[in-house]
Amino acid sequence: MKYISTRGSAAALDFEGVTLAGLASDGGLYIPESWPRFSDNEIAEMAGLPYAELAVRIMAPFTAGSLTEEELRGLCHAAYGSFAHDAVTPLVQFDQQHWLLELFHGPTLAFKDVALQLLGRLFENFLSRSDDHLTIVGATSGDTGSAAIDAVAGRERIDIFMLHPEGRVSEVQRRQMTTVLAPNVHNIAIDGSFDDAQAMVKRMFTDPSMATSHGGRFRITAVNSINWARLMAQVVYYFAAALQLGAPQRKIAFSVPTGNFGDVFAGYVAAQMGLPIERLIVATNVNDILHRALSSGDYSAGTVTPTAAPSMDIQVSSNFERLLFDAGGRDGAALAEQMRGFEASKAMQLTNAQREGASALFTSARVTPEEMVKAMRWASDHCGEIIDPHTAIGLYAACSMEIDAAMPIVTLATAHPAKFPDAVSEATGQHPELPARLGNLFEREERFDSLPGTYEAVRDYVAQRATESA
Ligand SMILES: *Cc1c(COP(=O)(O)O)cnc(C)c1O
Repeated sequence: MKYISTRGSAAALDFEGVTLAGLASDGGLYIPESWPRFSDNEIAEMAGLPYAELAVRIMAPFTAGSLTEEELRGLCHAAYGSFAHDAVTPLVQFDQQHWLLELFHGPTLAFKDVALQLLGRLFENFLSRSDDHLTIVGATSGDTGSAAIDAVAGRERIDIFMLHPEGRVSEVQRRQMTTVLAPNVHNIAIDGSFDDAQAMVKRMFTDPSMATSHGGRFRITAVNSINWARLMAQVVYYFAAALQLGAPQRKIAFSVPTGNFGDVFAGYVAAQMGLPIERLIVATNVNDILHRALSSGDYSAGTVTPTAAPSMDIQVSSNFERLLFDAGGRDGAALAEQMRGFEASKAMQLTNAQREGASALFTSARVTPEEMVKAMRWASDHCGEIIDPHTAIGLYAACSMEIDAAMPIVTLATAHPAKFPDAVSEATGQHPELPARLGNLFEREERFDSLPGTYEAVRDYVAQRATESA
């Protein structure tokens, strides 16, 4: 399998290349040259497979040429063996139509673990082949950071630098990052927003004094969902849920609490691969750039409003570029031009082709804080389920859609409620307990450095501590 950049000018790479590179050298994102497609018969034969085996079936076409099936199988069993639930992503019923796909049974209690437990192992496998060293630089609105740190802490040949917006992640989220004291883990609290932190990370990838891809000293890569391998791993649970609810004979809708457009784009990929998905509901909070883009074509970034669902407090959704590329006719040169315009003015208009391509599968909804609370109460009062604020946004959007009552709608439960105890207990009166496996999180020593919100400060910090590429 070959991968091409959404901006058309970076060289095509194989799976190993795109996993280690993260962002393409032309500033674009990698996407498969063409979508592998399963027939209905092939999909029907996947029913009942254990999760790790299903993962091998779905991911083998994407990793071909870089991993043997046996290598992929070994990595999948190790990654998904780290989950606290044997089904890995169990499906829970709300009512006749609504279902919950619990993606939070990994080590750090958010769906990010599903992809990152695999990605950490992919990095280690690929680096051992070339005996090279990797510098991971990431920005997190909360959950990516802890999941990435758990996935690579203590691994040889990897240093991780994780930026989080100071004071804008929950205490549980912060402690899950800062209490990991492995020497290859560097936590940085930035005086700024998530978008500021993400912009610095993107700049470092193309900084000639830093990134080997531009002549610098460090082999820098991304663990944000701009890394293709993350999206690939997330495709699997769309298949897992749909198969349980009767696919390929029956069509399924999904509602996805969305920030960087990674998780819901994985659903788009599943549909391109032949999974019968009727609708993908893009649920946003009041930071609604994606809702505006999908409903009116207006992709313009405002300022971020902090909410009780911080992992969705995003105004620039990196992975949206992948949809604009694929749905808009795969014209890299035209998209590069469009994205340059966006980077200059923080606003752009979708083309007609992009709008039509997107509306075939996506519907969007903007959910207010009051509606989010209503959804948490409904789940608790009517179904005995405690859900987190992000999941509640997805559930509210799912319930507000006009969709045939016979069509199952699966809401993705992206985080465990105990990651956001204050918002949950305020809404439901119930205090969600941390699972025992997180142990003494609140007693453990924390370690992080605070930096001003300037690129230079972060660049110098990384340059002083990272290991040079071989
Ligand atoms: C990361 C995250 C999201 C947003 O996912 P994207 O892939 O960025 O759209 C939603 N909910 C939770 C709990 C998250 O951690």
